Amino acid sequence: VHKQSKITFLGTSTAIPDKGSDTASFLINDTILVDTGWGVIDNLRNYDVDPTSLQYVIFTHLHHDHYMSLPSLLFYWMMKKKSLNGLKIIGPPEDLKKVVSASLTFLQQERFFRDSGFPELIELLPGDTYEQSGFKLETCGTIHPVQGLCYRFNDYETGQIFSFTGDTAFHPPIAEFVKGSSLLVTEASLGAVESDPDRNTAQHSGAVDAGKMAALAQVDKLLLIHGSLGSSEACVQAASEHFDGAVQWPKDGETIFV
Ligand SMILES: [Zn+2]
Ligand SMILES: [Zn+2]
Repeated sequence: VHKQSKITFLGTSTAIPDKGSDTASFLINDTILVDTGWGVIDNLRNYDVDPTSLQYVIFTHLHHDHYMSLPSLLFYWMMKKKSLNGLKIIGPPEDLKKVVSASLTFLQQERFFRDSGFPELIELLPGDTYEQSGFKLETCGTIHPVQGLCYRFNDYETGQIFSFTGDTAFHPPIAEFVKGSSLLVTEASLGAVESDPDRNTAQHSGAVDAGKMAALAQVDKLLLIHGSLGSSEACVQAASEHFDGAVQWPKDGETIFV
Protein backbone atom coordinates (compact mmCIF):
# COMPACT_ATOMS: atom_id res chain seq x y z
CA VAL A 1 0.00 0.00 0.00
CA HIS A 2 1.54 3.31 -1.05
CA LYS A 3 0.69 6.45 0.87
CA GLN A 4 0.55 8.72 -2.15
CA SER A 5 -0.86 8.36 -5.60
CA LYS A 6 1.77 8.71 -8.30
CA ILE A 7 1.40 10.42 -11.66
CA THR A 8 4.31 10.25 -14.10
CA PHE A 9 4.13 12.53 -17.12
CA LEU A 10 5.39 10.81 -20.27
CA GLY A 11 4.63 13.92 -22.31
CA THR A 12 3.05 17.32 -21.77
CA SER A 13 3.41 18.86 -25.21
CA THR A 14 0.91 19.88 -27.86
CA ALA A 15 -0.68 17.83 -30.67
CA ILE A 16 2.46 18.00 -32.82
CA PRO A 17 4.91 17.74 -29.94
CA ASP A 18 7.92 19.97 -29.45
CA LYS A 19 11.15 18.28 -30.51
CA GLY A 20 12.43 15.96 -27.78
CA SER A 21 9.07 15.75 -26.01
CA ASP A 22 5.73 14.05 -26.52
CA THR A 23 2.06 14.94 -26.60
CA ALA A 24 0.16 14.90 -23.29
CA SER A 25 0.20 11.41 -21.81
CA PHE A 26 0.74 10.15 -18.26
CA LEU A 27 0.94 7.12 -16.08
CA ILE A 28 -1.00 6.60 -12.83
CA ASN A 29 0.64 4.35 -10.21
CA ASP A 30 2.89 2.79 -12.89
CA THR A 31 0.13 0.60 -14.35
CA ILE A 32 -2.60 2.89 -15.73
CA LEU A 33 -1.73 4.79 -18.89
CA VAL A 34 -3.80 7.87 -19.79
CA ASP A 35 -3.63 8.49 -23.56
CA THR A 36 -0.66 7.17 -25.55
CA GLY A 37 0.96 10.18 -27.22
CA TRP A 38 3.07 9.48 -30.32
CA GLY A 39 5.77 7.29 -28.79
CA VAL A 40 4.54 5.35 -25.79
CA ILE A 41 7.04 2.48 -26.00
CA ASP A 42 10.09 4.77 -26.06
CA ASN A 43 8.58 6.90 -23.30
CA LEU A 44 7.84 3.99 -20.96
CA ARG A 45 11.22 2.33 -21.50
CA ASN A 46 13.09 5.61 -21.06
CA TYR A 47 11.49 5.93 -17.64
CA ASP A 48 12.15 2.25 -16.80
CA VAL A 49 8.53 1.11 -17.01
CA ASP A 50 7.96 -2.28 -18.63
CA PRO A 51 5.24 -1.71 -21.29
CA THR A 52 3.80 -5.19 -20.63
CA SER A 53 3.21 -4.29 -16.98
CA LEU A 54 0.38 -1.92 -17.88
CA GLN A 55 -3.08 -3.01 -16.76
CA TYR A 56 -5.17 -0.21 -18.20
CA VAL A 57 -5.14 2.32 -20.99
CA ILE A 58 -7.61 5.15 -20.41
CA PHE A 59 -8.46 7.36 -23.36
CA THR A 60 -9.76 10.84 -22.66
CA HIS A 61 -10.96 10.93 -26.28
CA LEU A 62 -9.97 9.45 -29.61
CA HIS A 63 -8.15 12.27 -31.38
CA HIS A 64 -5.02 10.99 -33.14
CA ASP A 65 -2.47 12.71 -30.93
CA HIS A 66 -4.00 10.85 -27.96
CA TYR A 67 -4.04 7.35 -29.48
CA MET A 68 -1.32 7.51 -32.16
CA SER A 69 0.99 4.93 -30.56
CA LEU A 70 -1.64 2.42 -29.44
CA PRO A 71 -0.55 0.10 -32.31
CA SER A 72 3.06 0.27 -31.01
CA LEU A 73 1.88 -0.74 -27.55
CA LEU A 74 -0.21 -3.65 -28.88
CA PHE A 75 2.64 -4.75 -31.16
CA TYR A 76 5.06 -4.73 -28.22
CA TRP A 77 2.75 -6.96 -26.19
CA MET A 78 2.32 -9.38 -29.10
CA MET A 79 6.07 -9.51 -29.82
CA LYS A 80 6.65 -10.28 -26.11
CA LYS A 81 3.94 -12.99 -26.30
CA LYS A 82 1.93 -11.28 -23.58
CA SER A 83 -1.76 -11.99 -24.12
CA LEU A 84 -3.78 -8.88 -24.94
CA ASN A 85 -6.56 -10.42 -22.84
CA GLY A 86 -4.72 -8.92 -19.87
CA LEU A 87 -5.13 -5.34 -21.06
CA LYS A 88 -8.20 -3.24 -20.32
CA ILE A 89 -8.87 -0.20 -22.49
CA ILE A 90 -11.28 2.44 -21.23
CA GLY A 91 -12.73 5.28 -23.28
CA PRO A 92 -15.77 6.91 -24.84
CA PRO A 93 -17.79 4.55 -27.07
CA GLU A 94 -18.05 6.81 -30.13
CA ASP A 95 -14.66 5.67 -31.48
CA LEU A 96 -13.08 3.25 -28.97
CA LYS A 97 -13.93 -0.06 -30.65
CA LYS A 98 -13.15 1.36 -34.09
CA VAL A 99 -9.67 2.60 -33.10
CA VAL A 100 -8.68 -0.59 -31.24
CA SER A 101 -9.96 -2.84 -34.05
CA ALA A 102 -8.27 -0.70 -36.70
CA SER A 103 -5.00 -0.90 -34.74
CA LEU A 104 -5.14 -4.71 -34.70
CA THR A 105 -6.09 -4.81 -38.39
CA PHE A 106 -3.14 -2.53 -39.16
CA LEU A 107 -0.89 -4.97 -37.25
CA GLN A 108 -2.32 -7.87 -39.32
CA GLN A 109 -3.14 -9.68 -36.10
CA GLU A 110 -5.08 -12.49 -37.82
CA ARG A 111 -2.15 -13.32 -40.05
CA PHE A 112 0.82 -12.91 -37.69
CA PHE A 113 -0.45 -13.00 -34.10
CA ARG A 114 -3.39 -15.40 -34.20
CA ASP A 115 -3.44 -16.35 -30.52
CA SER A 116 -2.60 -12.97 -29.06
CA GLY A 117 -6.04 -12.30 -27.56
CA PHE A 118 -8.03 -9.11 -27.50
CA PRO A 119 -8.04 -6.25 -25.01
CA GLU A 120 -11.11 -5.90 -22.84
CA LEU A 121 -12.90 -2.72 -23.89
CA ILE A 122 -14.69 -0.69 -21.25
CA GLU A 123 -16.85 1.92 -22.94
CA LEU A 124 -17.98 4.73 -20.68
CA LEU A 125 -20.53 7.40 -21.48
CA PRO A 126 -20.53 10.74 -19.67
CA GLY A 127 -21.99 10.05 -16.22
CA ASP A 128 -20.87 6.41 -16.14
CA THR A 129 -18.78 4.99 -13.29
CA TYR A 130 -16.24 2.17 -13.43
CA GLU A 131 -15.14 0.59 -10.20
CA GLN A 132 -12.76 -2.22 -9.27
CA SER A 133 -10.89 -3.13 -6.10
CA GLY A 134 -8.12 -0.51 -6.46
CA PHE A 135 -9.92 2.54 -7.77
CA LYS A 136 -13.12 4.15 -8.94
CA LEU A 137 -13.45 6.24 -12.10
CA GLU A 138 -16.30 8.67 -12.50
CA THR A 139 -16.86 10.55 -15.72
CA CYS A 140 -18.46 13.65 -17.13
CA GLY A 141 -18.61 14.92 -20.69
CA THR A 142 -16.18 17.45 -22.15
CA ILE A 143 -16.75 20.08 -24.81
CA HIS A 144 -14.66 18.98 -27.78
CA PRO A 145 -15.30 18.14 -31.47
CA VAL A 146 -15.30 14.39 -30.63
CA GLN A 147 -16.85 12.57 -27.68
CA GLY A 148 -14.57 13.08 -24.69
CA LEU A 149 -14.53 12.33 -20.98
CA CYS A 150 -13.27 14.12 -17.91
CA TYR A 151 -12.29 11.50 -15.33
CA ARG A 152 -12.46 11.75 -11.55
CA PHE A 153 -10.06 9.14 -10.18
CA ASN A 154 -10.62 7.85 -6.66
CA ASP A 155 -7.52 5.91 -5.61
CA TYR A 156 -8.66 3.41 -2.96
CA GLU A 157 -5.04 2.54 -2.17
CA THR A 158 -4.27 6.06 -0.99
CA GLY A 159 -7.66 7.69 -0.43
CA GLN A 160 -6.68 10.43 -2.88
CA ILE A 161 -9.05 11.87 -5.46
CA PHE A 162 -7.72 13.66 -8.53
CA SER A 163 -9.19 14.57 -11.89
CA PHE A 164 -8.08 15.01 -15.49
CA THR A 165 -10.16 16.65 -18.16
CA GLY A 166 -8.59 15.66 -21.48
CA ASP A 167 -9.11 18.25 -24.24
CA THR A 168 -12.00 20.60 -23.63
CA ALA A 169 -13.32 24.10 -24.02
CA PHE A 170 -14.06 26.00 -20.79
CA HIS A 171 -17.13 24.37 -19.25
CA PRO A 172 -18.19 25.18 -15.64
CA PRO A 173 -20.08 21.87 -15.12
CA ILE A 174 -16.69 20.12 -15.34
CA ALA A 175 -15.51 22.20 -12.36
CA GLU A 176 -18.64 21.19 -10.45
CA PHE A 177 -17.97 17.52 -11.24
CA VAL A 178 -14.31 17.75 -10.24
CA LYS A 179 -15.03 19.27 -6.79
CA GLY A 180 -13.48 17.34 -3.92
CA SER A 181 -10.38 16.48 -5.96
CA SER A 182 -7.04 17.60 -4.56
CA LEU A 183 -5.52 17.88 -8.02
CA LEU A 184 -6.78 18.88 -11.46
CA VAL A 185 -4.84 18.06 -14.63
CA THR A 186 -6.13 20.05 -17.58
CA GLU A 187 -5.07 21.38 -20.94
CA ALA A 188 -3.87 24.84 -21.91
CA SER A 189 -3.26 24.25 -25.59
CA LEU A 190 -4.38 27.77 -26.58
CA GLY A 191 -1.50 29.24 -24.58
CA ALA A 192 -1.42 31.97 -21.91
CA VAL A 193 -4.80 33.39 -22.90
CA GLU A 194 -8.52 33.12 -22.28
CA SER A 195 -10.43 31.39 -25.06
CA ASP A 196 -12.86 33.41 -27.16
CA PRO A 197 -16.04 31.30 -27.31
CA ASP A 198 -16.90 32.72 -30.76
CA ARG A 199 -13.57 31.69 -32.28
CA ASN A 200 -12.91 28.46 -30.40
CA THR A 201 -13.88 26.04 -33.19
CA ALA A 202 -11.28 23.45 -32.09
CA GLN A 203 -12.81 23.62 -28.58
CA HIS A 204 -9.69 23.88 -26.44
CA SER A 205 -8.72 25.90 -23.34
CA GLY A 206 -6.20 28.60 -22.60
CA ALA A 207 -4.35 28.88 -19.31
CA VAL A 208 -6.79 31.55 -18.07
CA ASP A 209 -9.68 29.13 -18.64
CA ALA A 210 -7.72 26.44 -16.78
CA GLY A 211 -7.09 28.78 -13.84
CA LYS A 212 -10.76 29.74 -13.67
CA MET A 213 -11.74 26.08 -13.83
CA ALA A 214 -9.39 25.20 -10.94
CA ALA A 215 -10.75 28.10 -8.87
CA LEU A 216 -14.37 27.02 -9.47
CA ALA A 217 -13.46 23.41 -8.67
CA GLN A 218 -11.71 24.46 -5.43
CA VAL A 219 -8.84 22.03 -5.95
CA ASP A 220 -5.50 22.42 -4.14
CA LYS A 221 -3.31 22.11 -7.18
CA LEU A 222 -3.53 22.65 -10.94
CA LEU A 223 -1.31 20.91 -13.47
CA LEU A 224 -1.27 22.36 -16.98
CA ILE A 225 -0.43 20.17 -19.97
CA HIS A 226 -0.87 19.84 -23.75
CA GLY A 227 0.58 23.06 -25.14
CA SER A 228 3.74 24.37 -26.77
CA LEU A 229 6.40 24.03 -24.11
CA GLY A 230 7.82 27.47 -24.97
CA SER A 231 4.69 29.03 -23.46
CA SER A 232 4.55 26.85 -20.35
CA GLU A 233 5.96 29.48 -17.96
CA ALA A 234 3.62 32.16 -19.30
CA CYS A 235 0.74 29.70 -18.93
CA VAL A 236 1.59 29.03 -15.28
CA GLN A 237 1.66 32.81 -14.69
CA ALA A 238 -1.66 33.39 -16.45
CA ALA A 239 -3.43 30.58 -14.61
CA SER A 240 -2.02 31.78 -11.26
CA GLU A 241 -3.74 35.12 -11.72
CA HIS A 242 -7.11 33.36 -11.50
CA PHE A 243 -6.36 30.56 -9.04
CA ASP A 244 -4.84 30.79 -5.54
CA GLY A 245 -3.58 27.21 -5.32
CA ALA A 246 -0.37 25.77 -6.68
CA VAL A 247 0.06 25.77 -10.46
CA GLN A 248 2.67 23.79 -12.32
CA TRP A 249 3.49 22.63 -15.84
CA PRO A 250 5.15 19.25 -15.27
CA LYS A 251 8.21 18.29 -17.29
CA ASP A 252 8.32 15.19 -19.46
CA GLY A 253 9.36 12.34 -17.17
CA GLU A 254 8.39 14.19 -14.00
CA THR A 255 6.52 12.33 -11.30
CA ILE A 256 3.96 14.19 -9.20
CA PHE A 257 2.80 12.66 -5.93
CA VAL A 258 -0.74 13.38 -4.75
ZN1 LIG B 1 -5.18 16.85 -28.04
ZN1 LIG C 1 -8.51 16.55 -28.95
